[in-house]
Amino acid sequence: MRLLIVSNRLPFSIEEKEGKISFKESTGGLVTGISAYLDSLKNSSFTKQEHIWIGWPGSEINPKFENELRKKALSDYNAYPVYIDEKSMDHFYNGFCNKTIWPLFHCFPVYTTYNETAWNYYKKVNEQFCEAIVKIVKPDDMVWVHDYHLMLLPKLLKEKLPGTPVGFFLHIPFPPIEIFRLLPKKWRVEILEGLIGADLIGFHTHDYTQNFLKCTLRLLGFDHNMGNITTDNRVLKADTFPMGIHYLKYHDTSALPEVRQEKEKLKSTFTGLKTILSVDRLDYTKGILNRLEGYELFLENNPEWHKKVVMLLFVVPSRIGIDNYQKMKAKLDALVGKINGKFGSLDWTPIHYQYKYLPLKPLVSLYAFCDVAMITPLRDGMNLVAKEYIAALTDKTGVLILSEMAGAAKELGEAIVINPNHKEEIADALKEALEMPVEQQNKRNSAMQKRIQEYDVIRWANDFTQELIEVNEFKKKFNARLLNSADKKQLIKSFKDAGSRIIFMDYDGTLVPFSGLPENAYPDEEILKLLKSFSGDPKTKVVIISGRDKQTLQNWLGNTNADMVSEHGVWIKDNGNDWQLLKPLNADWKLKIMPILKTNSDRLPGSFVEEKEFSVVWHYRRSDPELASIRAKELIDDLISFTANIDVQVLQGNKVIEVRNAGINKGIAANYFLSKNKYDFIMALGDDWTDEDLFKSLPDNAYSLKIGMGSSHAKYNLGNYKEARKLLNEILN
Ligand code: UDP
Repeated sequence: MRLLIVSNRLPFSIEEKEGKISFKESTGGLVTGISAYLDSLKNSSFTKQEHIWIGWPGSEINPKFENELRKKALSDYNAYPVYIDEKSMDHFYNGFCNKTIWPLFHCFPVYTTYNETAWNYYKKVNEQFCEAIVKIVKPDDMVWVHDYHLMLLPKLLKEKLPGTPVGFFLHIPFPPIEIFRLLPKKWRVEILEGLIGADLIGFHTHDYTQNFLKCTLRLLGFDHNMGNITTDNRVLKADTFPMGIHYLKYHDTSALPEVRQEKEKLKSTFTGLKTILSVDRLDYTKGILNRLEGYELFLENNPEWHKKVVMLLFVVPSRIGIDNYQKMKAKLDALVGKINGKFGSLDWTPIHYQYKYLPLKPLVSLYAFCDVAMITPLRDGMNLVAKEYIAALTDKTGVLILSEMAGAAKELGEAIVINPNHKEEIADALKEALEMPVEQQNKRNSAMQKRIQEYDVIRWANDFTQELIEVNEFKKKFNARLLNSADKKQLIKSFKDAGSRIIFMDYDGTLVPFSGLPENAYPDEEILKLLKSFSGDPKTKVVIISGRDKQTLQNWLGNTNADMVSEHGVWIKDNGNDWQLLKPLNADWKLKIMPILKTNSDRLPGSFVEEKEFSVVWHYRRSDPELASIRAKELIDDLISFTANIDVQVLQGNKVIEVRNAGINKGIAANYFLSKNKYDFIMALGDDWTDEDLFKSLPDNAYSLKIGMGSSHAKYNLGNYKEARKLLNEILN
């Protein structure tokens, strides 16, 4: 099994100069992390897993170099470039990715733009990635897609490669639904559908996972059970995997002689001063301005620290083509100038500011040298710099001030955790950090080092890929229950060979889809035609076996020759005769139950009560799903204790709670028909738990089919009502 890693950027970029191409390694959290994992696979004596990295090579390539580049990328880097022209990349990357998704997912709606052209390019580039993968994928491969640039890709892949395991990991936060739904309806639905094309979707923190699950429930209607989502025809999972760092790389680099030397050099440059490190990409999410304001307030409040402390501020150029970033740079320059002017003197500069990228060794020297690291983003999916700083503290001395808005704060609780919006808190944290006793620092850093060493980036990637394999195994077992073509053939043959047949069909969710209002789920032409064809055949008895009231069934299906069972087995209409009670029943209890259901429906907008002759039903399909699920649980509890001495049963169905007489169910009703005649072919179709009584009551040779993906007493599952209709059509033809 090969692992196909897919990310927007390859781990290198390509430059074309004077007719020659050259490769330049690219950096960043994602690339460093995944590369470390892939190296570990190469060096492992257990897993010899091959991999290919698929992504954009960093610039538009002259077509005459494409083949040469492809060969070299594959041989030197195990990489497969996806060629994308500059214009598409501009709309896709600078446009949709970084002006729409990045600000919105980091909860900056004011910076978010909604541009249809950019969205169309986002779709186009996702499709180009899909085409590239389809070209090289092999039957046993597993695909792992990374990050917000490629959220439509999992669905595209699933359509083309249904058997290939597809995982997706989001490296930025997933926003709360109130923010996510600011996206135009069409986009947000397509993005969610794109994501749930994956078999496993990973997030950095539990909060992001919960935000995503809430969005899939509220915007797509798919509920979950412990992160397991069942759609119309698939099962998939959303889970939390906090990304780690390559711990040993930072720890060991910190111990290198040249890094130690650099540290000594820094010591002599800043003799007598405590140092505060600040290092981030230039990005409004990183909270650099807030941090500086906090430092300014600290200097204001603590004149005793003047000339004793210095901030080393490194800002890495990033997304230079985007306006907001340029504006922020100007503000930053001005604020640094202001603070240095306000507090500085000829012999002391409070902030040493550099606008540049730091390679590994100089960066780690700074980590190891500085007394305090201030990592205070306003919002950050994870923040690897925080973990790297802790890993580089070989002597375990140093204090981390960390924003509670960074995903990393969930794992680094021993840091001084602050709210980055509150400059007073930042100023206080700085004082606490600068004055923290060394034993305290050692204690806190040891705990954090242990944790991030144990769950490093290799563990993280192993966990993800392992879970992807497990979800896929589960899916296979699940799919094994789906009616396959050999069984279907056998079923059709048995039907054709049989002299007498009976088919039980549930109605809602089995033959027709659910509708917000039950009265809108009336039968369409196709289903009426199908029922007439089956029930018109003298060798076939069709029984519609439903929870509906008899009047509705009569009105909708009365002009077919089908027999009918209403209210889950209370009434029976057999051989064209009048409706009759299957057994004598009493409905006096309804008077006591109705007020309870009515009160409940008044409390939950969108819900209503339906009264049938021998049952009452509370419907909540159109209500807010989360509130409804709480109310439904409360109601079930109330009803069960209230009806303890009454001969009724309380049942929870698909977005309904029903109270009905005991001793009645679809299985008993089916037995009524089965005991009257002998049938060579028996088939039953149903979608919810009320049909389980029916499935259980059938003889072994019957074909029972559960419509939907849940577990069941039925022999087979079929994806949804469309598949049920398809099967019925195939039986007839
Ligand atoms: N980094 C670097 N040189 C720098 C600044 C940052 O190599 O001058 C690396 C840093 O080591 C980390 C990554 O860039 O691995 C930044 O990842 P993080 O999650 O902190 O922030 P992001 O840039 O992904 O938002």
